[in-house]
Amino acid sequence: MKDIEDLKNKALGDIKSADSLQRLQEIKSHYLGRKGIITSLLKEIKNLPVEERKEFGKRINDLKLTLQEALGRKEKELQKKHLERSLAEEWIDLTIPFEGGCGTLHPITLTLERIVTIFRGMGFTVEEGPQIELERYNFDMLNIPPDHPARDMQDTFYVNKEGYLLRTHTSPVQIRTMLKNQPPIQMIAPGKVYRRDDDPTHSPMFHQVEGLVVNTDANLKHMKFVLENFLKSFFASDLPVRFRASYFPFTEPSAEVDIGCLICNSKGCRVCKESGWLEVMGCGMVHPTVLENCGIDPEVYQGFAFGMGVERLAMLFFGIDNIKLFYENNIRFLKQF
Ligand SMILES: [Zn+2]
Repeated sequence: MKDIEDLKNKALGDIKSADSLQRLQEIKSHYLGRKGIITSLLKEIKNLPVEERKEFGKRINDLKLTLQEALGRKEKELQKKHLERSLAEEWIDLTIPFEGGCGTLHPITLTLERIVTIFRGMGFTVEEGPQIELERYNFDMLNIPPDHPARDMQDTFYVNKEGYLLRTHTSPVQIRTMLKNQPPIQMIAPGKVYRRDDDPTHSPMFHQVEGLVVNTDANLKHMKFVLENFLKSFFASDLPVRFRASYFPFTEPSAEVDIGCLICNSKGCRVCKESGWLEVMGCGMVHPTVLENCGIDPEVYQGFAFGMGVERLAMLFFGIDNIKLFYENNIRFLKQF
């Protein structure tokens, strides 16, 4: 029994003097481990005379509990010390000037700024709208009927509230602007849009710039002038531009705008699928129904509208072949801009 008392004092002394969590773990296995002293003592019980077994067993179990408690207390104490030391030693002074140079603007931001600057120079205002939009503004009032494929669940992110969605294009900002102001209107709307699309050239979130001009004599020639002027300024090149008949529910007539392929100089390559042309935006004369929906008399006013993908223009402008690079925030990619 005296040996047990000595063992207890020795063990408690060891625990008390432990100066690291690792040392404490060694002490724990020395006494309580599978081959530890206490464990072997418990195995000895069966060799004792029957009348001594009960008392001896109780003493050893008490000792075991005492040591477990002491170990637990010491472990908490050492953990606390460890944390305090880490906080003191690994402290970072955020006020020290960074020596790696300045950050850079994101290529999408640069592209948006470039687009906005050119249109501002032509007298366009910049309008904004919410990203969670009314289904009515995103579809109905733009002459997109309920059975139109663009409304398909596969394309549109609906939100958990009847009548709302994540806008699939920046066109609802046209509606908001026309409801708010009578013509003349000459605006662009840059912003984020959302579609269920995900591959090397499509992302579920991307950026568009929408444009709208409404006045008493807006016509196709004006539209052609504005868009050609924009594209030549944007690419800083006198590149060929062509308009190709197309269809959109909210414009009539409608067209897609192509530019001569920048990669192959219109000779034909993989990027332009050997055609020598790259599609860069959609446009058209505003459908009279859309004007009417917004309380603008189509007998007096007419308008043209256009929309472009910012990532698409940025990829062509900077020569980037994977849209994902814009969202990964790899510092080596971003530093090039
Ligand atoms: Zn090409």
